[in-house]
Amino acid sequence: MLNGPFLFLQMPDTHLTDLKNLTLPALEKFLQGQGKERYRATQIFKWMYQKDATAFDEMSNISKDLREELWQTAFISRLEPEAVETGKDGTRKYLFRLEDGNAVESVIIPTDDRNTICISTQVGCAMGCTFCLTGSFKLTRNLTTSEIVNQILAVRRDVELRNIVLMGMGEPLHNLENVIAALKIMVDDNGLQLSTRKVTVSTCGLVPELERLGREVTVNLAVSLNATTDELRNRIMPVNKAYPIAMLLAALKKFPLPGRRKITIEYVLLGGLNDSLEDARRLTRILSDIPCKINLIPFNPHEGADFVPPADAALEAFHKYLLDRNFTVITRDSRGSDISAACGQLKGRLERS
Ligand code: SAH
Ligand code: SF4
Repeated sequence: MLNGPFLFLQMPDTHLTDLKNLTLPALEKFLQGQGKERYRATQIFKWMYQKDATAFDEMSNISKDLREELWQTAFISRLEPEAVETGKDGTRKYLFRLEDGNAVESVIIPTDDRNTICISTQVGCAMGCTFCLTGSFKLTRNLTTSEIVNQILAVRRDVELRNIVLMGMGEPLHNLENVIAALKIMVDDNGLQLSTRKVTVSTCGLVPELERLGREVTVNLAVSLNATTDELRNRIMPVNKAYPIAMLLAALKKFPLPGRRKITIEYVLLGGLNDSLEDARRLTRILSDIPCKINLIPFNPHEGADFVPPADAALEAFHKYLLDRNFTVITRDSRGSDISAACGQLKGRLERS
């Protein structure tokens, strides 16, 4: 499905500030700098995030004079999907074209009455995990805060959202400033009004950034572990050379989670590489003192990958081993793989088919 021509309410000018790049306190400062009252920021925030306004003229509780002044200094950006693909299982992939011609993808994963939306934080990724298609494209650039929150607003025009996961293209903690601002907008009562328990950041394990994230916002954390020895993790996730497993686990132990939540440990099963019972045993050992739940993700194949999915028997045995030792474990089915919307298959390009 292709949408019609993009409607620009006002051509964004480089000297204008995109108000969706600002947290509520930053917007208050911006307006105060122009001699405006603080409460105006709350009003504008609600218009942008609760009523999806993109034109100041819609803001009926703001005087005409102020609205006209705002046009001189600011604008409100918006994303429209360039294409939407729906998979057999109802998974939907949105392709968003950005101002500079780059593109990113978001995925809606419907489960029962709830929708999880998986959003992107970068164009490409610099972390170079060898099994990941996004990683093979290297990093083109960070997304701005507005580009991150606009993915949510765009998808919310179509469906009701329950959970937000920062698990699409890119490494969220490698774009920490913009991601933290976006998270603050997501959980702000005057912003997107999402519960901190419904927002999850997934990281490959950048330890100093992880610590800063924990100090600045309260959200759920998912960590892509994917290996139980430094030897293997160094090979498949180069980030491990800087922050080896022991250092990562120590940071996880200290991470402040919302309420009595658990950290999600993601473990991509690569056939014949990390899917033996010996791996499962080491996994239970290193996770024994971390409140966590384990997500097993069978490798999703993509062009040019040197890996294979685990055999069904290996997957089942691995899952059962963890379950028998009282771990909370789920095997994530490869939803949306027919439209390349599954984990590690996002590339920000239209399929040729
Ligand atoms: N950069 C973040 C979030 C994006 S990747 C991170 O690494 O956590 C989201 C998840 O997809 C990660 O758990 C990653 O290990 C997994 N993944 C990447 N490529 C995959 C593939 N080909 N098959 C299955 N999972 C994959
Ligand atoms: Fe980047 Fe995550 Fe892919 Fe690794 S798995 S290359 S960190 S997107």
